[in-house]
Amino acid sequence: MTHDAQPGASLYINGAPVEGRGPDLDVLYPFTGEVIARLREADVAQVAQATAAAAAAQPAWAALRPVERGRVLIRAAQIIRERAEELARLETLDTGKPIQETRVADWPSGADALEYFGGLAPTVTGQTIPLGSDFVYTIREALGVCAGIGAWNYPSQIACWKAAPALAMGNAMVFKPSEETPLGALKLAEILTEAGLPAGIFNVVQGRGAVGAALVSDPRVAKVSLTGSVATGQKVYAAAAAGMRHVTMELGGKSPLIVFDDASVEDAVGAAILANFYSSGQICSNGTRVFVQRGILPEFLKRLSERAAEVRIGDPLDEATQHGPIVSAAQANKIRAAIAKGQAEGARLVCGGAGDGAFVPPTVFADVADAMWIAREEIFGPVMSVLAFETEAEVLARANATPYGLAAGVFTRDLARGHRMAAGLQAGTTWINAYNLTPVEAPFGGVKMSGIGRENSAAAIDHYSQLKSVYVGMGAVDAPY
Ligand code: NAD
Repeated sequence: MTHDAQPGASLYINGAPVEGRGPDLDVLYPFTGEVIARLREADVAQVAQATAAAAAAQPAWAALRPVERGRVLIRAAQIIRERAEELARLETLDTGKPIQETRVADWPSGADALEYFGGLAPTVTGQTIPLGSDFVYTIREALGVCAGIGAWNYPSQIACWKAAPALAMGNAMVFKPSEETPLGALKLAEILTEAGLPAGIFNVVQGRGAVGAALVSDPRVAKVSLTGSVATGQKVYAAAAAGMRHVTMELGGKSPLIVFDDASVEDAVGAAILANFYSSGQICSNGTRVFVQRGILPEFLKRLSERAAEVRIGDPLDEATQHGPIVSAAQANKIRAAIAKGQAEGARLVCGGAGDGAFVPPTVFADVADAMWIAREEIFGPVMSVLAFETEAEVLARANATPYGLAAGVFTRDLARGHRMAAGLQAGTTWINAYNLTPVEAPFGGVKMSGIGRENSAAAIDHYSQLKSVYVGMGAVDAPY
């Protein structure tokens, strides 16, 4: 296979590509296992160099008119759309996800974020608080240098979702992509430079967890935004606490998708497929516990296995492919171990199974009980657990009986019940008669162990800025002596 994935250099610091001085980092194409790029990690001095460049550049960026910052982000969104096909192909090489997905989901969603926050930047204002003749006004200020750390499932979207609100508010960013998928963030850095971003405002360092840890504890970093697992989130949150740094934590989940017997079974099956098998199941908000009301369970399982049997699995660069490989052999093996655990626990395999090589097919377990490992733990692969339920009160309690709280979905034609369930479900995002749609206009993030803070929407502005109160005294100072 010929490819053009090798970047000019591994890192991007102060507006220019820089070669890493740390350990080697080979990038594999998940479909073939072929090395498509040879990178090197940043060493500790280079992490410091990146944060120093960001700290030096940030005040002048923050001093621009917001409309000028916004213009750069909107221009970057335009460049992304002009290069859509090239970028989709690179994303497929980096992640193994089918080109029919990367064309519509990854960079397009990143471009939406750049456009949205570019437009929002000039609308952010303070408040005036009257106090008789004195008054207070507030200023929403940048935090300074923000660290972004990404997961491997949506590498370019994650980089854009973090960079767009951070830069819009006048911050600088040092971004560390996942070591599994390091290529998209480098493209974003180049595109932002081309769009007119000053040097030092968006930097990329590569590396495994240790490089992320060095970044999080750098004294110049004021905020850390992580997308990753709960276990990593706990470490990063603790490290950030030492320096009283702000955090956004976008972590894992074990989200419920609840199908009542008055729902359209065809739509609910479609949603369950989207909620479990898109991106080969490697999505944080996936509805991996599918609760189906007992009366429609046989019909639901029948249509689900019929539709799952139609999936086209194969070469991700083939436009017809709907289901690609898992990101790495290590992750594929973890998923296989989870499937074996489900079988050993007595869940009934309805379709799918271990697969081979890089591929795990869409897999459905029925007769799953709440206490089973597969119903409690995030698998992060194409493995759906179907659980039967009888009543609304019962399913709400069971859906909420998890330490996670990223997302939830309800399928019903009963309007009042849909809203009642949405109110009762402990989740950052709840869909009614839909699943896994995350437009930039809507806040996204978790409750409970699934995270802190929100990405997207105007809510993200609060997480990339701080409020200053300015008290203005208008009269004589009334001192006691
Ligand atoms: P991970 O936690 O293994 O790694 C995430 C990132 O953290 C990587 O870049 C990694 O190098 C870095 N890292 C690891 N240890 C670190 C440390 N001690 N300090 C600083 N950085 C460190 O996660 P992953 O396997 O790449 O991604 C899968 C997980 O991410 C799943 O749990 C999934 O649910 C979650 N996820 C959440 C969202 C969301 O928006 N809520 C989105 C995508 C993925």
